[in-house]
Amino acid sequence: IFNNVEQLPPDALFGIKQRLSQDPRPVKVDLGIGAYRDDSGKPWVLPSVREAEEVIRQDPGYNHEYLGISGLTALIQGAAKVLFGEDSAALAEGRVVSTQSLSGTGALHVAARFISKFCGDKVVYLSDPTWANHNAIFETMGLKTATYPYWDAASKSLNLEGYLEAIKTAPKGSVFVLHACAHNPTGLDPDQSQWTSILDAIIEREHIVLFDSAYQGFASGDLDRDAFAVRLGLQKLADVSPVIVCQSFAKNVGMYGERAGCFHLVLPRQDASVDTSAIKSAVLSQLNKITRSELSNPPAYGAKIVATVLNTPRLTEQWHKDMVTMSSRIIKMRHALRDHLAKLNTPGNWDHIVNQTGMFSYTGLRPEMVKRLEEEHAVYLVSSGRASIAGLNSGNVEYVAKAINEVVTH
Ligand code: PMP
Repeated sequence: IFNNVEQLPPDALFGIKQRLSQDPRPVKVDLGIGAYRDDSGKPWVLPSVREAEEVIRQDPGYNHEYLGISGLTALIQGAAKVLFGEDSAALAEGRVVSTQSLSGTGALHVAARFISKFCGDKVVYLSDPTWANHNAIFETMGLKTATYPYWDAASKSLNLEGYLEAIKTAPKGSVFVLHACAHNPTGLDPDQSQWTSILDAIIEREHIVLFDSAYQGFASGDLDRDAFAVRLGLQKLADVSPVIVCQSFAKNVGMYGERAGCFHLVLPRQDASVDTSAIKSAVLSQLNKITRSELSNPPAYGAKIVATVLNTPRLTEQWHKDMVTMSSRIIKMRHALRDHLAKLNTPGNWDHIVNQTGMFSYTGLRPEMVKRLEEEHAVYLVSSGRASIAGLNSGNVEYVAKAINEVVTH
């Protein structure tokens, strides 16, 4: 029995983590997984989170009971407000159905199940390139995936023309997965006028938008600015079609392992003959069925922490500062790496490292260079050349620049 089970290769990112932990060399640099590190290379518990944990522990009602099937209301409501905005028309008009999910991955999985069950035979369009797990999540649910052009390798910029062409030629009513900000892996986001063109083209072809918001606050340090695309999308699509939004608090609250996130379905305005509250109730019952069969109920601890941060003004203010701390350290490291490479006269132009945003840089290093970085210098990144800038710090950035210089030059 089971002797014909196929052995799969290790996950690229978690494989790196394993090789790195077994590497005996004294100097090692982890530019693989997208998790924030402080300037001494250590995981960082946000001060707002530390305080929220204290508040939760001192609550006389402190316990580890189950949450309800759709999760913690205070998290869901705070999450919707932070992403859609305090003045969101969709929230004011009661057009949003939400459920807590197992972080961003879980939200995407719920989206995939919901689409496969209620949207007919849809093709899901993913950016080329995209976060590797996107394919797996949608394909596991039996959905067909396709790609739309995104990254132009020659110019290291957005291939807007190809992107718009793909929107135009995709079968009407396809699903387009859009990274809300801090695109993974390229670190390249459309600018505001490009977003307008993209969303207008999507509306023209009656496609369904799915925003994947895993890095709000990480691109600019400003939650509102990083929510630009989502809010523009909700505004433009308000009278047109539903919008799916998958939201993660892994990165921006540093809740990586606690799996706090939300799935939102924003319904369009409909004429008075349509009973929106009945639709919402039916949708929620289906979401609850999915959650009940897979998780029974979502995890509580991270949800309570995030809800406390989002709903306590003093902690919200601290959280905003924490995000500036993280995003500005990353920006500083982008500049340090680019400047060291310039000083070393490393062949090529490295300005894209400072122009890209969020946690990652798509460095342009080729797979054989990445391999040498790991084998000869113990600098670990994924073979696509994506580097997690959060793994750089003032103690290792010069070492990394020298290693890159060496593999690019020789
Ligand atoms: N979407 C994108 C684009 C991501 O990069 C990630 C995290 N790497 C996620 C979703 C989901 O992450 P998590 O499940 O940890 O919230």
